[in-house]
Amino acid sequence: TDLAAIVESGTVDVPDFPKPGVVFKDLMPLFADGPAFRQVIDGIIAHHGEGSFDVVAGVEARGFVVAAAIAYATGTGVVPVRKAGKLPRKALSASYELEYGEAALEVHEDAFIAGQRVLVVDDVLATGGTAAAALELVERAGGTVAGFTVLMELAFLKGRERLSPRTVHALLTV
Ligand code: 5GP
Repeated sequence: TDLAAIVESGTVDVPDFPKPGVVFKDLMPLFADGPAFRQVIDGIIAHHGEGSFDVVAGVEARGFVVAAAIAYATGTGVVPVRKAGKLPRKALSASYELEYGEAALEVHEDAFIAGQRVLVVDDVLATGGTAAAALELVERAGGTVAGFTVLMELAFLKGRERLSPRTVHALLTV
């Protein structure tokens, strides 16, 4: 589609980042391109439907950029899902596996009003570990997941299967 092409042309492949053998998808050029960024944000809103969510949760750090733009455009709010140890107040934590070791995401325990419909966003879906933790946190904090969107899905890492039966919306699947 149109949006997939926009995401693709705004992405730069960076070989051997953050370590040898990994090709990192850098979406910063897309974020820096005003018309492209607006089309992508508007496309996500159109996909889910304005009015289908009450708040947008973004996963640190690039998810914040996407979440804030969607929230502003729809008059909703933003809730940050942060890396462990960053939030100032009492938080819920969900750990997930990395290739070597573990990491954790956190959200303030009072981040959501019970039943609030939460659109969760991030830039890239890879193995799905990050997304699984973020979605779990939203629900543990009392939110209802209204949708999960990424700009790009790396299909070979099978994140979508890991998140099943949840629905993943990706603007571009590679
Ligand atoms: P996962 O937990 O699905 O393996 O990794 C997804 C998380 O790591 C997301 O928060 C995403 O921002 C980041 N990530 C993993 N691989 C890439 C990549 O190639 N490009 C970008 N921009 N982020 C990535």
